[in-house]
Formats: sequence, structure tokens, C-alpha cells
Amino acid sequence: MNNKRITILGSTGSIGQSTLKVLATQPDYEVFALTANGNVDLLLAQCQQFKPEFAVLGAAALAQDLAAKLQILGLATQVLSGPAALVQVAADPAVTHVMAAIVGGAGLAPSFAAAESGKVILLANKEALVMAGAIFMDAVARSNATLLPVDSEHNAIFQCLGQSSHVGKGVQRILLTGSGGPFLDTPLAALDHVTPDDACRHPNWDMGRKISVDSATMMNKGLELIEACWLFDVPPEKIEFVIHPQSIVHSMVEFVDGSVVAQLGQPDMRTPIAHVLAFPERADAGVAPLDFNKLTALEFRAPELSRFPVLRMAREVASGAKSLAVTFNAANEVAVEAFLAEQLSFLNISVVIQAALDTAEAPELHSLDDVLACDTLARALTRRILSSL
Ligand code: NAD
Ligand code: MG
Repeated sequence: MNNKRITILGSTGSIGQSTLKVLATQPDYEVFALTANGNVDLLLAQCQQFKPEFAVLGAAALAQDLAAKLQILGLATQVLSGPAALVQVAADPAVTHVMAAIVGGAGLAPSFAAAESGKVILLANKEALVMAGAIFMDAVARSNATLLPVDSEHNAIFQCLGQSSHVGKGVQRILLTGSGGPFLDTPLAALDHVTPDDACRHPNWDMGRKISVDSATMMNKGLELIEACWLFDVPPEKIEFVIHPQSIVHSMVEFVDGSVVAQLGQPDMRTPIAHVLAFPERADAGVAPLDFNKLTALEFRAPELSRFPVLRMAREVASGAKSLAVTFNAANEVAVEAFLAEQLSFLNISVVIQAALDTAEAPELHSLDDVLACDTLARALTRRILSSL
């Protein structure tokens, strides 16, 4: 038996597919389970290539469809469906590693199950940590799980800190870089009519549609601020946003002696994915090396807060009540969904999020159920705000 057995939550997504590309060249891994919400054909192709013990789909009818197709091909993969099955394949005692790559709050319960059951968690699903940071980190500590950041900035910070997940006394600041997305220099007046396709046309990264819109509003950087606070146990005041349009420097750490350590690489998620899969060793990611003869300029500047109002909100959320982060994330998910369905304008995404933050209640959060209940309330509140616009 191979010594590493991995469950990939969200294997049909952008991160999931990149993970499987890297895994195809890593013989010490066996794939235990693959999961998808609805893409039966891609999940079938992945089952043919990786022969997992389990495949999970979002609904029972889809699972039946996949099971029938697997049977015709003579494959023994068992097919399950629904949220409980995601938790099951994340927590199964046979599993050593879990790639948490479901998008949004739907990934929280299975990511949390991996944390509670002591796995090596490769965390792409930043929303899980934003929503449940305190109890998530507590579960990791209690079960002796290992939490490795896949998000390129956090993976970079982790590497710059010398692969220790603690910000010691010597750290002055974390410099969280972001490209600024497709609308960095678009005249503000033109942002009124941008379409979902405009927002998803990211200059450097090829990603799922939700995170692409988050990059265009810079909500992605806001979520990443909160994610970094939890991952590295650092207050938000120690983290600075830096616009870096080329996406070559993936973040930096400044130390009290004036040293700044940066991690550089191609804007290709296979690099951080290979890093966490091989950790603490290194493995070939299949990524072309950086060509320093062609990198003519690396630019850095401060973000315009008037253009990206969610950055200011993220700072307030990061230092406020824990439930604010649940509301911040839920309101964004609902607003982005409405924007992608062309029911909300781009500029109104941040207006809706601010309105939700202003009106949501702030319950105490002590358990996963508390977080999920707060999330449900915040989504309902945001839908009411949307319908009143
Ligand atoms: P994606 O939309 O391409 O893929 C999402 C995956 O989650 C798919 O496999 C989909 O089937 C599954 N999924 C969606 N809704 C689900 C539900 N309700 N139940 C079960 N499964 C569901 O997204 P992505 O770009 O791969 O991003 C995944 C996560 O990684 C996000 O949290 C994102 O913020 C984070 N992330 C992505 C990138 C990137 O480059 N794509 C970089 C850093 C972090
Ligand atoms: Mg990122």
C-alpha cells in the first residue's frame, strides 16, 4: 500500500484538476476519493485515470448516472452523494491527506471533518477558514492535524517564514500581494456596466468563476487577510495589502532587521500544490521556470481603497466579532452568485456586503453548528437586501 492516501474535495474544479495533474507524477500517492458537485463526465474520466475507492456527487440522481457508467467500464469505485458523504470521505481512517478545494461555504463541513480527524489538510478552500477560523484552528490543534496553505499568497508566506506556521517576534509585517484583478486601471465610471465575463477575465490566473469575481472586487484579498490572520496567528494590523500586477511575487515577509523575504514563481497553482503535496520535500510541479531575462519589470503600489471598498471592510471584519466574518463571506457568496446570474451590477456587490454587515446580528460562535446557523441567517438576510434593491 502507498503511504499517502488522498481525498480531493472538489476534484473537478480548477484547483482539483491542477492537483490531479501534479499527482499524476507522484507515485507515493494513492487517490482514495474524488468529489464533484455536478460534472459527472469529468468525474468519470478522473475515476478512469486514478481509480479511487470512492466518488461523491452532489445529488443522488447524478450518483446513479456515474455508478452506471463506471459499471459499464468495469470500475470498482463506489459512488456516494450529498454533504454527509463528503464528510465521510474526508474523515475516513484510511485517508492521510485531504485537498480541500470545494469553493465557498459548501466546503466548510468536510474541511472541518478533515481537521477534526487529524489529517494533513491542504487548504485551498479559504472560505472555510474565514467562516470558522477559531474553531477550525482549535480542531487542528486538538487532533494534531497539519494545516498546509495552498492559496498562493499563504503558501508563499509559509515558505518565507521558513516553513514555520508561527509569526515570531522577529516579524515586522506580512506583505500580502495581489494583482488588482482585471479592473485595476479601468475608469471607475466604466465599472458600472462590466459583465460577468469581463470580471472573470483575469490578467494572470485561470480560476473558477467565483474566485475570479472575488479577484475583480478584491474581496479575494479581503478573505485572504482574514485567512492569513488565522493561519499565522497574526493581527490584521501586521498585514499590508500590496498591489503587484505581474503576479510573480506571491507575497513577502518583512523582518525587524529590515530583511524582506519574498517567494517568486509563475502564476500557476501547480507550484503551491506541488509544494504542499511533497512537503517537507520538494517535487516537480511541471511548471516552466521563471525566465529572468524576460521579467523586465516587477511593479508594486498601494491599492486604491475607494476602488476596492471591500478591503476596508475586511480590516474591520478581521478585528471585529467572529460572526462578522461569517456574514462577510455569506453576503459575498450570495452577491457574487447574483452578479454571475446578471441580477446584480458589479458595483453593487460591495454595497450589498456592506448592508449585510450593517444589519446582521452578531451571535457567539462556539461550534460548527453555530457557524452554519449564522451562515444560513446571513444568506437569508442578504437575499432580502438583494430583493429590496
Ligand atoms: P471551481 O469553481 O473551479 O471548483 C469548485 C469545485 O467545488 C468543483 O469541483 C465543484 O464541483 C465543487 N463544488 C462546488 N459547489 C459544491 C457544493 N455545493 N458541494 C460540493 N462540491 C461543490 O473553484 P476553484 O477555482 O478550484 O476554487 C476552489 C477553492 O480554492 C476556492 O475556495 C478558492 O477560493 C480557492 N482557491 C482557488 C485558486 C485558483 O487558482 N483557482 C487559488 C487559490 C485559492
Ligand atoms: Mg490567493
